[in-house]
Amino acid sequence: MATVSTSVWTDVLGHVKLNYPHIMRGWFSQLSPTGIEAGTMVVVARNGAQVRYLDKHCKAAFAEAGQAATGRLITATFQADAQETHQGDVLPSLGGTADGTLLLNPDYTFENFVTGPCNRLAHAAARAVADNPGRAYNPFFVHGAVGLGKTHLIQAVCHELRKQDANVKCHYISCEMFTNDFIEAIEQGALHQFRYRYRQADALVIDDVQFLADRERSQEELFHTFNTLTQSQRQIILSADCAPPEIPSLKERLVSRFNSGLVTFLDRPCLETRMAIIHKKAQLRCIELPEDVVQFVARRINTNNREIDGALTMLDAVSQMDSKPITLKLAQQALGKAPARLVTVPTIMDVVALRMNVKVSDLQSKRRSKSITHPRHVCMYLARELTTLSLEQIGGYFGGRDHTTVLHAHRTIMRRLDEDPDMSVLLKETELEARHACA
Ligand code: ADP
Ligand code: MG
Repeated sequence: MATVSTSVWTDVLGHVKLNYPHIMRGWFSQLSPTGIEAGTMVVVARNGAQVRYLDKHCKAAFAEAGQAATGRLITATFQADAQETHQGDVLPSLGGTADGTLLLNPDYTFENFVTGPCNRLAHAAARAVADNPGRAYNPFFVHGAVGLGKTHLIQAVCHELRKQDANVKCHYISCEMFTNDFIEAIEQGALHQFRYRYRQADALVIDDVQFLADRERSQEELFHTFNTLTQSQRQIILSADCAPPEIPSLKERLVSRFNSGLVTFLDRPCLETRMAIIHKKAQLRCIELPEDVVQFVARRINTNNREIDGALTMLDAVSQMDSKPITLKLAQQALGKAPARLVTVPTIMDVVALRMNVKVSDLQSKRRSKSITHPRHVCMYLARELTTLSLEQIGGYFGGRDHTTVLHAHRTIMRRLDEDPDMSVLLKETELEARHACA
């Protein structure tokens, strides 16, 4: 087998970074080429999760880079390091991905998870679960809005469990897949195999269980799976976009099962945490970002961390295209100017109080009569929608209420929005007034 010299390998990685920046990952520096044989460049990765990422996203890019660097027509193939083959493997004993098990994202590890006041508790609990599966908190339930890191955190537990025990049967799956798999098993008369597959897992990790809403039979099945696993102290980890009691039409007995371990919550990250996440993401993707750009991006993206990836891809692409480094000016051009001026909670309260005929002091009081709670809910909803404050910070404006109260208020108004067309008019008008008052 012909060896790949260090300079050729540097060229390969350089070519990938230059032409395919969006697939670039920090851990590419851990890859090593073993050589070129029969026109195939063999690249060794640390674990199975990395190999799957490379197979899925990088084959063509590495082949092209290999050709550019060697001047020969070659393809690329990826293998896991023999000593670490099992690390990051998806359920060897549950049949790999053939059963629909989702792939773990190799970037979703604890090392890459940034902590801050918004997620410290959930992170600490996830760590405890990984260190002591089946015993620390069982089940472990994480909820929070989209893009706040639920999938990242629960996959980090999976990575950790596999790091500690290469043979652990850690079954990570989306709830949608669980229900599809279940329906298919019924249709094919293969319930026995389905149950065997799920009930022999050491850890069952189901993402986005709000998908169980209105799926009675899947709920029933999960209830029995749940009991079987927890009775033998095997770990269950669940995520959802809301707390168990708020999942529509979730059967009471499942609500109480989900509540029986630890329910934690991911809040919106504050500016510092967002900046740290941007740093981490840029580092993972080998993108150099000056501090003022990090701050600029963090100020623009304040509700969904998923948008950080999109912003980084955009900045990287524009900088490659123009052959210019990423600067604040480039970032402003690529991502647009700063977002519209934000509204403050006191202004929202003033506007709502005037419109809905209540006193601001009532909104802040402990009074719970309907004539007060409804305007208070409206305020909290608008505060959540129009400011970047965390739920806890919003609660602070309303007599120190906690985050669950604000979350409940937000969801109550969301439900009202579905049922009552006047509600959206009221909200829109109040928003416009509040924006006007803050301009
Ligand atoms: P969710 O499942 O809650 O919708 P994800 O776990 O998919 O959110 O996260 C969205 C993106 O934001 C991912 O790229 C994830 O890595 C990133 N992210 C979210 N929270 C954090 C964090 N605390 N540290 C690092 N990255 C984060
Ligand atoms: Mg998710």
